[in-house]
Amino acid sequence: MNIGIDIDDTITNTYETMLPMIALKYGKNLDKLMAKKPSYRTLHSILPNFDKFAYENYETMVKIVPLKDGVVDILNKLRNEGHKIIFITSRNYKEYEDPYKISLDYLQRNNIPFDKLIVNVQDKAKECMVNKIDLFIDDSTKHCKAVQNKGISTLQFDTSFNSYTKRLERVKSWEEVYQKVQMMYT
Ligand SMILES: [Mg+2]
Repeated sequence: MNIGIDIDDTITNTYETMLPMIALKYGKNLDKLMAKKPSYRTLHSILPNFDKFAYENYETMVKIVPLKDGVVDILNKLRNEGHKIIFITSRNYKEYEDPYKISLDYLQRNNIPFDKLIVNVQDKAKECMVNKIDLFIDDSTKHCKAVQNKGISTLQFDTSFNSYTKRLERVKSWEEVYQKVQMMYT
């Protein structure tokens, strides 16, 4: 089957890497900032000139974000079992000079197996339909709900800042993703 996967906070720990840098840059207390669990969108509204900061710094930050535990092994196993891995990210031209290149370089440098990379996606539900996605994995409540509304199965990756909703099936690790895929599709 075709598995659509988000990048930031789904295969990587982007938020935990970025927030300390953002706190330093803006002279904010990290614990206080963390306690608010701001979404990326919230950061744009509560911090001055954050659009500019993002454009100037995200590229450097995402180069060093660590992968989540076990993700490379699990993606290799899934691919060896015949599934296609399609990355669908909303990394865009407002935040990156070249969102495709920065993402491709990262995936290749970290030996992440995949079949296709799609960037600058606003409407993930539409992109999932176009690419005939059977299972979609993302941390975003908004994207998971939109994709689920198209009748596509979703797994929401747990993060410290996304909202919990009963409607979405949630996973805490890539090992759990693998188990769910085995249960659903074998
Ligand atoms: Mg994400």
